[in-house]
Amino acid sequence: MHLSDFKKVFFEKLSDFYPETEVQSFYFLLTQHYLGKTRLDLALEPKYELSEEQREQFQKALLRLKKYEPVQHILEETEFYGLRFKVSKEVLIPRPETEELVSWILEDLASEEKSIRILDIGSGSGCIPVSLAKNLNTAEVHSWDVSEEALKIAIFNAKINNVNVDFQLKDIMKTVDLEQQYDLIVSNPPYVRNLEKKEMHSNVLDHEPELALYVDDEDALIFYRKISELAAKNLKTGGSLYFEINQYLGKETLRLVQGFGFEAELKKDIFGNDRMLKAIRINGGEL
Ligand code: GLN
Repeated sequence: MHLSDFKKVFFEKLSDFYPETEVQSFYFLLTQHYLGKTRLDLALEPKYELSEEQREQFQKALLRLKKYEPVQHILEETEFYGLRFKVSKEVLIPRPETEELVSWILEDLASEEKSIRILDIGSGSGCIPVSLAKNLNTAEVHSWDVSEEALKIAIFNAKINNVNVDFQLKDIMKTVDLEQQYDLIVSNPPYVRNLEKKEMHSNVLDHEPELALYVDDEDALIFYRKISELAAKNLKTGGSLYFEINQYLGKETLRLVQGFGFEAELKKDIFGNDRMLKAIRINGGEL
């Protein structure tokens, strides 16, 4: 079968399920992954012939996409900050907004000369600690997660990206002390309220880990409160705390963090939503 014939089928079959731009992006991700061909390669080979095995691979992927399985689960990997990450249903698929958070941190640290100690809370796939470690040669990077399954993936991702991250199995909600002083603490904790589920698509709702995503409507900032409280004691003076946040709770999150004695600011993502927060520990001691 010619790839171009399959392409027609692929677009037709998925047109009831996804917008065309999304189908296009799936198509090129799959061809890159299964055939090792870029968009340009394909344009130069309009008569590319699919082997029987390749046709079956594409066919299977097509069926899974029709069930709204995330394409990253089908490929079992994704790209984040230019690096390759293995993903599974045990971890949140790295999001572009989290790349923006990593960019912000790296910009702020661009002129940093000393070696700094970083703690990431909620490793997930490891996208934050691994991309920070990759771009900060002298940093000492720690990362904690409550899920053993997530940690296995994160450890694997540190390995394939050739970086050292100290991963630990820890429940932040049960942590009373961070035990050592950090220059920087970062977290993308769960922050989606149940009331926001109606805005979400079934590729997220049915396929991604609840543990990594959702919080009670009544106490949506529970992780921010706990982490800020711990950071107020265990960030060095002048050290910084970075969060990815719920876009609808920017002001509330800012106020909460300021309540712990931090100087804090919000930052919008490329869609203009309040998505990130940075806080600096200005006082020398505990509140
Ligand atoms: N940004 C993610 C989403 O909307 C949520 C990430 C999180 O809960 N930390 O799917």
